[in-house]
Amino acid sequence: MKARGRFLALIAVLALTVPGCKSRPGGKPSPTAPPSVPSYVDRIPAFCKELDRTIPRLGWKLATCGGIAWKSESVSVEGRPLMWAEFGDPSSTNKTLILSMVHPDEVTPLYLGFKVVHWLKEHEATLKDSHVIVAPFVNPDGYFRKPPIRMNARGVDVNRNFPTGDWGAKAVQVWKSKLKSNPRRFPGWEASSEPETDFQENLIARFQPKKILSVHSPLNMMDYDGPSALSVDQFSREYVAECLKLRNRLRANSSGFFPGSLGNYAGQERGIPTITLELPTSNPRKADSYWKKFQPGIASMVEFKLKEDVARAEKTRPASRKVSP
Ligand SMILES: [Zn+2]
Repeated sequence: MKARGRFLALIAVLALTVPGCKSRPGGKPSPTAPPSVPSYVDRIPAFCKELDRTIPRLGWKLATCGGIAWKSESVSVEGRPLMWAEFGDPSSTNKTLILSMVHPDEVTPLYLGFKVVHWLKEHEATLKDSHVIVAPFVNPDGYFRKPPIRMNARGVDVNRNFPTGDWGAKAVQVWKSKLKSNPRRFPGWEASSEPETDFQENLIARFQPKKILSVHSPLNMMDYDGPSALSVDQFSREYVAECLKLRNRLRANSSGFFPGSLGNYAGQERGIPTITLELPTSNPRKADSYWKKFQPGIASMVEFKLKEDVARAEKTRPASRKVSP
């Protein structure tokens, strides 16, 4: 095959395999046009109005969406925009991803999520060598149920739906046996079946965060998933030591992880230190005191510069190929 033929064949294979590069109905995708990325930013004002109507009954004075440059490229099962905002220097490698409201019935993370957004916006000038990506409302549909539910609109726990290596063998089996088919913990019938899971996966793939914080309640703990003394065969000793420095700085502990959870997907499998902040209660009247209590820790996590795992980056870098003249 001539070089040009091989190149065209490669393009065709990529078009079939790259996610989001699907052919549109009614015609072939043009080989020259980049795949169009949908924007759902125009849905944000109506969505935020819907959200703001619920805030007074929580007893909060909370600024939500106003004054923030939101982005959105996907929607929830019921069509609400899945949105994020970015602060600091996009060229900085010190990237932190902050997620909240994965489980909408927990409520207090809603307050913290938007407080973080506005605090970052006000302090953006001080974020010289950091880039922070915040998605404060990962699972909006569950919040608008009366009463709010833990799951998404299809009844899936989106923190059990990540495509972890053990998902196929264990997720549904653990749910049926250990969890006695508790509907609140349903992992879905397929990994990554939910747009809210896909949204989080895409943020991780796109920004390659060095650290992730996910805000939940009410278990009153700081959980760490990521490289540890047990994973030195997977990650370099230097990198493990760096990650543990962050864990110690935040006084986080390591407990177990589940098939399909973010901690398993990002922390255990991808080696991105993932902190789950479990606020002490889901009582909305306590939300402001939690923000005051945990804000310094969140600031400390954003500032913390984690050195790259050089050995691992070396291993995963594609081998250079010689090109014949
Ligand atoms: Zn939770």
